[in-house]
Amino acid sequence: MTSTAQQNIDPAELAKFDSLAARWWDTEGDFRPLHQINPLRLDWIRQYVNLKDSKVVDIGCGGGILAESMAEAGADVVGIDMAEGPLAVARLHQVESGVEVEYRQSTAEELAQKEAGSYDVVTCLEMLEHVPDPSAVIRSCAELLKPGGDVFFSTINRNPKSFVFAIVGAEYILKLLPKGTHEYEKFIRPSELEQWARNAGLELQASMGLHYNPLTKNYWLAPNVDVNYMMHFRRPASD
Ligand code: SAH
Repeated sequence: MTSTAQQNIDPAELAKFDSLAARWWDTEGDFRPLHQINPLRLDWIRQYVNLKDSKVVDIGCGGGILAESMAEAGADVVGIDMAEGPLAVARLHQVESGVEVEYRQSTAEELAQKEAGSYDVVTCLEMLEHVPDPSAVIRSCAELLKPGGDVFFSTINRNPKSFVFAIVGAEYILKLLPKGTHEYEKFIRPSELEQWARNAGLELQASMGLHYNPLTKNYWLAPNVDVNYMMHFRRPASD
């Protein structure tokens, strides 16, 4: 393993996910929001790509909630993460679930050096806001794609409303997430994400917001991208 100084990782962030790893598949625990939104984001991805038999890499896969669900949908999935705890939990969980995913400890940048142009689909959800240089991750995701391949990102917008909803609301009032899960400064505006993606040669296909009603405890998708959102890009078929 190369030293953290050369890598685009934040050791404090990885330690945070390591400490929570054991609870990753507790659908009522700290990762409940990820369990609840997973069917919504999986359905959104499947509107644009046929996962059956496609080669997929999930960047920052954590305990494997999305990775397993894509494998269940027929994809050949590699899941990478830099935190050892979540990867261990992901490997154990697939023994229990019988869903096959190949988990590896790697950054997107390292994988892109070895396997550029190898994947039909790249997913990188709820991860960009936890790394020092998200634009480098986006560039590596673009490199991992075959020409014509699709990449999906999700993160949190940066504005006063997202501060109130995603930090004050989700962590302090509703306690949906542990305190300190997110740092406001690391949130990413859709315009920033799009610019970094464009610089990496990607073309924007679609965006979608993810919304939560604390009264009904319901999540749903709608076009407003003020707080949580996803973006879909494509690598042009010939570049
Ligand atoms: N993508 C998953 C998990 C999101 S939590 C999902 O949406 O269900 C964010 C994950 O990103 C954590 O597991 C954390 O360990 C991982 N992560 C943070 N920095 C990383 C990096 N530089 N490279 C790979 N994974 C990273």
